[in-house]
Amino acid sequence: MTFVITDACCNDGACAVHCPVQCIRPRRGEAGHATAEQLYIDPATCIECSVCRDVCPVGAVYADVDLPEHLTDYARINAEHFEEWPIVDWSESPDRRRVLPADRPHLRVAVVGSGPAGCYAVQALASVPGVQVTLIERLPTPFGLVRTGVAPDHPQTKRVVDQFHQVLAGESVRCRFNVELGRDVLIEDLLDHHHAVIYAGGAEVDRPLDIPGADLPGSYAARDFVAWYNGHPDFSDRTFDLASSTAVVIGNGNVALDAARVLARAPATLRDTDMADHAIDRLAQSGIRDVHVVARRGPESGAYTLSELLSLSRMDGVDLITQPHEAVLQEQVMTALVGTGVSKSLMRKLQIVAAASGRRAASDRRRIFLRFLLSPVSINGEHCVESVTFSRNALTVVDGRLQMHATGELETFQTGLVLRAIGSRGRSVPGLPLDDASGTIPNRLGRVTDSKSGAPLPGLYCVGWIKRGATGVIGTNRQCADETVDSLLEDFHSGRLAAPRFESSGFDRLIATRQPHVVDYGGWLRIDALERARAKGKRPRSKITDIGEMIRAAGA
Ligand code: NAP
Repeated sequence: MTFVITDACCNDGACAVHCPVQCIRPRRGEAGHATAEQLYIDPATCIECSVCRDVCPVGAVYADVDLPEHLTDYARINAEHFEEWPIVDWSESPDRRRVLPADRPHLRVAVVGSGPAGCYAVQALASVPGVQVTLIERLPTPFGLVRTGVAPDHPQTKRVVDQFHQVLAGESVRCRFNVELGRDVLIEDLLDHHHAVIYAGGAEVDRPLDIPGADLPGSYAARDFVAWYNGHPDFSDRTFDLASSTAVVIGNGNVALDAARVLARAPATLRDTDMADHAIDRLAQSGIRDVHVVARRGPESGAYTLSELLSLSRMDGVDLITQPHEAVLQEQVMTALVGTGVSKSLMRKLQIVAAASGRRAASDRRRIFLRFLLSPVSINGEHCVESVTFSRNALTVVDGRLQMHATGELETFQTGLVLRAIGSRGRSVPGLPLDDASGTIPNRLGRVTDSKSGAPLPGLYCVGWIKRGATGVIGTNRQCADETVDSLLEDFHSGRLAAPRFESSGFDRLIATRQPHVVDYGGWLRIDALERARAKGKRPRSKITDIGEMIRAAGA
């Protein structure tokens, strides 16, 4: 899939500024700009993040699979622009160029965490002449959830790392991987050698599901399952009992849909992906035929995105099934929704859910059931999971607004596998405050603030999920990083950042005393090359999942 700009394009470039992979062209001053009648999306670069569609002020952007009949030519029209004007300049859009003050032309920043938010922060900083960035990552490999979170059957989404590679290879960026904040370096060490620190640690802890039996063997955090099949070294020796014929996934965000899709997929279709070898082998022996994805609210509140729902509804050999009494909204509920304004994408999601209602699957096919209006009550079993019980909710309309209440009716699913996909939160790290309620670092526009006084803590910034909570898609982190970097540069301009006490080179000497196996960018490239070289057939890579092996491959 790719996104396509159609005839209504207003050419104001809002989409191009927000595009995380800069695939919307032509930009001002670029070849082809003078004659272009509209903006175009390069299908070879697009990562399907949908940010362009969301920010387009005129509704001119569509997923190619959703193009109205009369606009289908535009898929070709967009592609043709890039045949004529291939992208040659990947540097930051001129609209976002930043500078340091003329009398203080050097700034050093440490970014902690190399997931999308950290990489976008590095990208924004590294485009400013005079800025030097040290990127710290606790694993020997970069890119965080792009490597260990994005589903292996969504390779297009992972293309975002192509531009991150260019950024990390830049002269003003030094990568220091296999270095952990709190273990190998402290915030004070970073501030001794840099003007500022941007923390991009993400949301590493799953939200607790506070019901009896949640910790029974057979009940797992979906995050852990995702990290396991993606070869995260902290999870590669985990075991998941896949003997049951039925799995239940609690929650219906994109993580729930990813987990459900992977569980329901025919094992053969995973063999060409970059899924970890251990997971491909284990899933090939899985007994699971039916996956129930269970949400506590109705289809009008599905936490999944349209593109993820679409890919669930179009799986080979798998039927998506919903229940008529849950999937088809009552007329008064629909009227209330329309009254509050329904987006086109929500309407389309509702149509997909309704179209799947009451569908009967052939016996040779696997099934994904999307269930709604069921809150988890208990996970049951003597020694391990045997079933999970939900209580039914109902939607009513009060004063034109939707309200949900418990009906008292219970429904129990027999299953040996429960995945809890109810979101995640940040964890506390030494030297940085954490708001326990939200699981985020208290901040204003990315400036870390004191938990009690609310005053900014000098030199400390945050970005990504630890800043705003676990929401949004990969591209959302670009705007988030821009905001934080703008705050940081504003503070530098106004003299609010203290100069570091020590030379930049002292930092490498310091971490060498604490971590003998620091992996730099060249080391990562060697890991990357080995993973690609050992992949067989159409697989893009065969991931190394052991830290010792990664360090050996890096030659560190
Ligand atoms: P999420 O989108 O916040 O979804 C959490 C789900 O858990 C919701 O359905 C929520 O229901 C439910 N939930 C929360 N507490 C619950 C409870 N006590 N009992 C029952 N259900 C409960 O979280 P996520 O799926 O972990 O995704 C995190 C972020 O990553 C999202 O922004 C997502 O879009 C993104 N992501 C994107 C992709 C992609 O683009 N392909 C893939 C994976 C993840 P309520 O809505 O009723 O609260």
